[in-house]
Amino acid sequence: GKRGGRNDFKFYTLGMNETNRTRIIIENLLHQALKKKEIYLVYQPIMELKTEKVIGAEALLRWNNPQLGQVSPDQFIPIAEETGLINQLGAWVISQACQEVVQWKAQGTPISVAVNLSPRQFRDSKLLKIITDAIAVNGITNHDLELEITEKLLLEDSPGSQGILSQLHQMNFPLSIDDFGTGYSALSYLIKFPFNRLKIDRSFITDMTHSQKAMGLVKTIIAMSHGLNLQVIAEGVETSEQLNSLKSQGCDYAQGYFFSRPLTGEEFRYYLQLNKNP
Ligand code: C2E
Ligand code: CA
Ligand code: CA
Ligand code: CA
Repeated sequence: GKRGGRNDFKFYTLGMNETNRTRIIIENLLHQALKKKEIYLVYQPIMELKTEKVIGAEALLRWNNPQLGQVSPDQFIPIAEETGLINQLGAWVISQACQEVVQWKAQGTPISVAVNLSPRQFRDSKLLKIITDAIAVNGITNHDLELEITEKLLLEDSPGSQGILSQLHQMNFPLSIDDFGTGYSALSYLIKFPFNRLKIDRSFITDMTHSQKAMGLVKTIIAMSHGLNLQVIAEGVETSEQLNSLKSQGCDYAQGYFFSRPLTGEEFRYYLQLNKNP
């Protein structure tokens, strides 16, 4: 009849504030986004500081919608988490990232890929299968796929999540604790959970060259991590001052705009070739 979806939509959002309206619009469009191929991954190089070589890349979600334009993951991922869409999106990320690893190997620049996992994905009983299938289908090894998780997951303290985490560890998937130092970090997590790497949150790196306290904190986190046999990745390195200071403190890896912004799959393959060892 005359009442198209548009009118229903208006009716539904009547009386809501702007934030809620925006949210519902995002939620509706996000449902279609994968199918409509509006979602893609970008890759940011992770550098080894000792050698200044690219040893890996973090895969980051991007969404380009015809109506909304480029939507930031900080905007759509929380919505995907609440609606449960993150499970579908997350599975796609894992599969897509593993396919990219195959291409990096094929062009003679073999490095690993790191993907972000939301706590909600650990509540999906299929997570292990999704990961191992992506590895098997693409003929890569568990070591090629690093998994980044935030403290939010550890906070949940659910036996299910802990079980999956230790299984992944036993299967030799490198595990990183992301955004360390923000949110509800407890040092006990570092002993209780089987991490290989710790990522220092960008906020501390941003402050370290103009704040003695931030500098002290970064130094201490690096020393503590090494004491716990964890490798350290500094996030959000933007200046040579930050880089030099991190190097002198023995930080293992870094990523940030100083080296490169996240690049599309194609751009990143080209970047790897340019930075290939002769
Ligand atoms: P994150 O995991 O902490 O990712 C790092 C964020 O810092 C990325 O933002 C990256 O583009 C940005 N960044 C990297 N270097 C620099 C720098 O030098 N300066 C500044 N200012 N920023 C830098 P992005 O891509 O907007 O992603 C935001 C967050 O969204 C991510 O934070 C992560 O929590 C989440 N996210 C992105 N992709 C995924 C995904 O596939 N799955 C899940 N669950 N979360 C994702
Ligand atoms: Ca991350
Ligand atoms: Ca992070
Ligand atoms: Ca973050």
